[in-house]
Amino acid sequence: MYALPEADIDQRRAVLAGGRVGCVSALRRVGVWGGLDRALHIHVPASASRLHLDEIAALGRSAEIRRTDKAFWAEPGRPRVHWQRANAPTARSWAYDWLVDPMSALRQAVLCLDDEHAIAAIDSALRKKVVRDHDLESLFTSLPRRLQRMRLELDPAADSGPESIVRVRMRRAGFEVEPQASIPGSSDLDLLINGVVGLDIDSRAWHTGEEQTSWDYGKTLQSFAFGRPTLRILPHHIFDLWPSTLAAISRVVSDAEELHRLRRMNRNRSTG
Ligand SMILES: [Zn+2]
Repeated sequence: MYALPEADIDQRRAVLAGGRVGCVSALRRVGVWGGLDRALHIHVPASASRLHLDEIAALGRSAEIRRTDKAFWAEPGRPRVHWQRANAPTARSWAYDWLVDPMSALRQAVLCLDDEHAIAAIDSALRKKVVRDHDLESLFTSLPRRLQRMRLELDPAADSGPESIVRVRMRRAGFEVEPQASIPGSSDLDLLINGVVGLDIDSRAWHTGEEQTSWDYGKTLQSFAFGRPTLRILPHHIFDLWPSTLAAISRVVSDAEELHRLRRMNRNRSTG
């Protein structure tokens, strides 16, 4: 098996090592959320004997290529190797010998990622229609029992991986979360918390045009005008600063609930 001359760096590395681009690396190729690990993940048949991992450790995304939502190439370093059963099924229509099919990639990724990133990956695969609702049955049948409860936490309405993760964390923290709640005169809020506070997740970590920024500011104003305070957070606030982010959201939610309660009491008093 030889990679074509125009093969990209991940493809060349996988083939050189004796495997195929798989797991989260394969998901990113089809625009599906693959967590935060920047290493190359490869699938290798259980029968493979000598892998050439050292030969590819120095290779990877060149420093000149700026990371964007479309530049998914892995960083240099030893790849994560996932050994596959000899008879691991491959989608019949799948023609690439250097890349695993999306269902196999997703199955492996769910095992490889922690559960909030795994839920985000399945949400994202459903949203991108890389897998369909009816594929979920066979996906979960092939997963260990400890992962089955994840199924109750899926929601393909999520707009991005970070949004899925915040939804999961907020629900686990006991909040009611409604995805894609509408704001009259603007685009939907990513998440509505306890019916009173909006949360918009800016997942565009690498580029934000002026027009988008202007729209986002307008949306925040609009939501306040509608009586719905809205917080806007970046991936950084989710992945590096979550305790203080959660504290801020909780504070705004409890203040908003208190205000609603006081207004209700006042109304009842004046009409009673
Ligand atoms: Zn992996």
